[in-house]
Amino acid sequence: MHIRNRYANNMPNFAEVAAEHPPLSQYLKKTRAGHVSIDFKNPRALRELTYGLLWKDFGIRLEIPLDSLCPPIPNRLDYLLSLQDMLLLLPRKESLPVHGIDIGTGASCIYPLLGCCIAEYWHFTALEIDDRSIEYARENVERNNLQDRICILKNSGSELLPPNLLTRDSYDFCMCNPPFYEDAVAVAKGVEAKALLPRAVCTGSRNEMITDGGEYAFVARLFEESCKLRGRISMYSSLIGRKKDGTALLKLLEASKDVSFVRLVAFRQGTTRRWILFWSFVVPNGQPSQLDADPQSQLAAPDTASSDAVPSS
Ligand code: SAH
Repeated sequence: MHIRNRYANNMPNFAEVAAEHPPLSQYLKKTRAGHVSIDFKNPRALRELTYGLLWKDFGIRLEIPLDSLCPPIPNRLDYLLSLQDMLLLLPRKESLPVHGIDIGTGASCIYPLLGCCIAEYWHFTALEIDDRSIEYARENVERNNLQDRICILKNSGSELLPPNLLTRDSYDFCMCNPPFYEDAVAVAKGVEAKALLPRAVCTGSRNEMITDGGEYAFVARLFEESCKLRGRISMYSSLIGRKKDGTALLKLLEASKDVSFVRLVAFRQGTTRRWILFWSFVVPNGQPSQLDADPQSQLAAPDTASSDAVPSS
């Protein structure tokens, strides 16, 4: 996990979470080793744990349908903290606030909600294609009184970053947790890797899990669009769920002469590994080209639960 992730060396104490969020109490049970835990196969227990962590540790109130992706908080935090690091590598911005885009915000709207919590000057445009998710996301934003910092927009077009929805001249970043899988067979093989802990139930619905061509095609499309938008968005990024897709996407970016910065950051949460791909058309802090920095070497996630978010170059 990221070194600034509050869960890095400090896994949540479920009893303490339940004390702050009583609906979790009914799902607490003692493990054989005598620890207090929950049944990670029970979607209701998992959802209450997520609600409880968000409330206790971030003061965020959430409501999501039982059949939607229940966001593992330590994992979502890793992406945001890593993004904060990457933004520091770019030339200093003259003015605040920071404006970001979340592609596929889901019913939880988790990245904008957490992002506004960890960085008080961040603002989000959150894009989503699914009507029910948009409804929930808007309610979650209102529930937390963040309407002035998070704007949810429906994307009905074929592009991931449709020009008609990008109303600002420039954005500081875009982020994305794409559906990882190309079909139901791939979901069945990889489903546990999407969850909070090993063997946790995956509550993701079809549009949250599956996209034509899987995450490779999704991020390749994002890259193609970024080549047109270039510096209008300072930092592009996406979560990557499978190592083979990370390797292939890195190759694709390396082959581009235009990109002036690319990083693939690896994380491990318990037994689950994840990668975040960052790229930019802005030259980072006067350095010539980060492509020289052997981004391939960043594919390996260390075995320890320490931070590997800092680029190895
Ligand atoms: N960001 C949330 C949800 C991720 S699931 C989280 O991290 O938990 C992926 C989301 O992307 C789904 O909600 C899906 O509806 C949405 N999505 C899929 N294709 C999209 C597109 N072309 N534009 C915007 N959102 C999209």
